[in-house]
Amino acid sequence: MVQGYTDTPIIPGSDWHVHDPNRPQPRVVTPGNLPEIAPVTPPSDAIVLFDGSNLERWENAQTGGEPAWKIENGYMEVVRKSGNIRTKAEFGSMQLHLEWAAPAEINGEGQGRGNSGVFLMELYEIQVLDGFENPTYPDGTVGGIYGQYPPLVNASSRPGQWQIYDIIWEAPQFDGEKLVRPAYVTVLLNGVLLHHHKELQGPTEHKKTTSYRPHGPKGKLFLQDHGDPVRFRNIWARELTDYDQA
Ligand code: MG
Repeated sequence: MVQGYTDTPIIPGSDWHVHDPNRPQPRVVTPGNLPEIAPVTPPSDAIVLFDGSNLERWENAQTGGEPAWKIENGYMEVVRKSGNIRTKAEFGSMQLHLEWAAPAEINGEGQGRGNSGVFLMELYEIQVLDGFENPTYPDGTVGGIYGQYPPLVNASSRPGQWQIYDIIWEAPQFDGEKLVRPAYVTVLLNGVLLHHHKELQGPTEHKKTTSYRPHGPKGKLFLQDHGDPVRFRNIWARELTDYDQA
């Protein structure tokens, strides 16, 4: 136990400091059977962002050039220090599906094991981490809304296995400088609920609390190079629509 962690401010609305290692670890839930071989086929109206064959819809997030991540056997894999990547297209509110696998060979611990991240609109991170028997500060474990909320439970599979994120993202809305509606997110990992229509406090931050800064209605989907060879496959999005829309 780390006694009396006070390195960071208290997260508003909670009793815990940002990244507080004393916060209870999310309860472990063993997910059901997952597709071991073939990924789930996208629905007919999905925007396919990665089908395993190429990175045409992606760019290096720093340079805007071609991403240097490896493509192999129908997945992409982070190449250490080659940089974060992001989609060329921008999205607002959406349903996002993606599959990922932490390295089968365990290396490091805590934040240093199988770390990547799914950043909605480049600002709001749902953590990707090897969370299997790998305690870390709960607001930074797998499925955490980084620095804000731990997942309701830890539904990790073993490293090396494909895992499934289904994310319903409701983009924040601004009127000029003013926030008129915060962002909300619903997240399932391996079919298990991690967040249910959770209101974000602002962009996810490291070691800091957060607040909203105005931005446009759409943004790019961003995947993190945190130095670990995490794999991704079968990434698709559906823009959210309302009832009675053709
Ligand atoms: Mg990360």
